[in-house]
Amino acid sequence: METVDTLFKNAIVLTMDEDLRQFEPGAVAVKGDSIFAVGPENEILQQYTSDHIIDCGQKVLMPGLINAHTHAPMTLLRGLADDLRLDVWLMGYMMPVEREFVSPDFVNLGTKLACAEMIRSGVTCFADMYYYEENVAQSTVEAGMRALCAQTVMKFPTPDAQSFEDSLASAREFIMRWKDNTLIIPSVAPHAPYTCTPEILRATATLAVEFDVPLHTHLSETAIEVENMRNEQGMPVIPYVKKQNLFDAKVLAAHCVHIDEGEIRTLQHAHAGISHNPSSNLKLASGVAPVKRMIELGLNVGIGTDGPASNNDLDMFEEIRLATFLAKGISGDPTVLPAKTTLLMATRMGAQAMHMGHLTGSLQPGKYADLILLDISPIHNSPRFKRDPNGIYAQIVYAAKSTDVTDVMVNGQWLMRERQLLTLNEAELRKLSQEYAKKIDIFLFLRENSVLSKLIAIGGTTEEESFEIQAKVPIREINPVLEALHKPEIEIIHQRHYRQYDTYFIFDGTEQGRIRYREDHFINEKDEITNVRSRLTLIGPTRERHYPQRVLLSRSRYLAPATQSLRFYREYFKPSHEVEVEKDRLRFLVCYQEIEFYVNIDSVSKPDLGCYLEIKSRTWSQKDAEAKSRLTTDLIEFLGASPTKTISEDYLEMIWDK
Ligand SMILES: [Zn+2]
Repeated sequence: METVDTLFKNAIVLTMDEDLRQFEPGAVAVKGDSIFAVGPENEILQQYTSDHIIDCGQKVLMPGLINAHTHAPMTLLRGLADDLRLDVWLMGYMMPVEREFVSPDFVNLGTKLACAEMIRSGVTCFADMYYYEENVAQSTVEAGMRALCAQTVMKFPTPDAQSFEDSLASAREFIMRWKDNTLIIPSVAPHAPYTCTPEILRATATLAVEFDVPLHTHLSETAIEVENMRNEQGMPVIPYVKKQNLFDAKVLAAHCVHIDEGEIRTLQHAHAGISHNPSSNLKLASGVAPVKRMIELGLNVGIGTDGPASNNDLDMFEEIRLATFLAKGISGDPTVLPAKTTLLMATRMGAQAMHMGHLTGSLQPGKYADLILLDISPIHNSPRFKRDPNGIYAQIVYAAKSTDVTDVMVNGQWLMRERQLLTLNEAELRKLSQEYAKKIDIFLFLRENSVLSKLIAIGGTTEEESFEIQAKVPIREINPVLEALHKPEIEIIHQRHYRQYDTYFIFDGTEQGRIRYREDHFINEKDEITNVRSRLTLIGPTRERHYPQRVLLSRSRYLAPATQSLRFYREYFKPSHEVEVEKDRLRFLVCYQEIEFYVNIDSVSKPDLGCYLEIKSRTWSQKDAEAKSRLTTDLIEFLGASPTKTISEDYLEMIWDK
């Protein structure tokens, strides 16, 4: 008789191995951190003994569940902002709050909260992607769980790095420090093609290859991501990342919702693993991944909860059930993703998708002892039929709940015994997380009350205080003004032609100012659009000082490049109403009497306001303003317009005056 550390008997053993062997009654021997033997109870008990014999009381003994994609620390952002589109949710809420709050302390606490929840629902191993991944790894080890921990790299400044070079360097150091750890597989995570440059995709793939570690990323999550990629690169997402050599690495790709047959084949040839995240994809209305086809073509597809801010929990039982129901529902075929296949996705196949199939995911001698006990006797799971051997998978997938998990072991160590967590203090985690929630609530409460704070929160904003002489006069025809501009008294320094599309967001209360979303379409001599530029401006209240027929304007503006769509800003800022202005603008920078002026000749088509001559000049002092004011009158007359008809510079006021 050989002595082992722990001996499980009287169990319904589901190995989830290649042959999906089951033993009832079955037994499992654990020695050190690994599974030593698995088989029928009588055989195992004849060969092995232990000081720790666990009578499983006919519970299911199976491999722990594998959560193939999450962002564990985001437990602290659970329920913060919901029922929003992905971009508004991510760029408008998650990222700004993360920039403000994410720290090593936040990540430690959030990870432990996530581990407590995952252990309770039978998860033994998860694939993570976040910032300060060092702290995710450390807290995971303290909780006793196994994880693939991927340090995020993206083109924007992140909570833990000012630049992508910084985060790439810290990813390298992180991998070097953790590459020999038993519980943690370190990894690098270029966040997604749309948040990374081609350079980042290439560099992260090279790094992953250098250390032979997996690369964790998000691919083809939404239709808009694919549409933008087609417009910008002339190809969908999978060929694009292939072109950046991403598949040189062992890729774990989350989502893959919007991919075609050819892309599935590309992923299969690249031996990429996929994480299917049904709750997150449904909640953010991203769509449903073609899981049935992926599995038919031999891809390793695991199941993930995604971050708890987009789910909003880490319950793998719910995820498993949703995965199979969705596949059946959209295919109209109830035979698709049978229970045993779906449970396989959440165990061995999930581990394979994470490139950790040799370590965990099934009860096989040599693999780590990552296992759970599941009680299938509760009222919601009774009675039990034994005729069909697949019935047990159906019981687990269609009727079991995460609360039926009673015991969890990872790496040969108990993490939960009879529903008591052994490595984490739940009461303390709840208390500390509530303190974070309170701070974040206050931060968002203040921000949501101010258009300016909201603008600053999405980043890239610069403040500009401007003092300008501005004059605007209606003109009947453009050509006489153009002819006058070309007279020798005026030197044209440069000129441009563009169409300007402005959308003004108006808010209740004038002190908020208004947001202008401006798109400039630059036009060449052949009347073709050569370039499009979008800008976002928060126009603060104007302080005006009037000179004869002119206006000196002083106001503060906050400018930001408009990197998101108009729809994004509309849903993010929630204006009380909007006004659109469209015009064709000929813009000249001229020198007149040794002073530089901008001369704009506008044809306003929406609303139909006719043509205007606009003259602007920056000014720095009152004396300068007075001199420029006089010259502005001269210039207006020189251009053949009437300075007596000067009107407000603001198209919006013109619209309202009408
Ligand atoms: Zn994710």
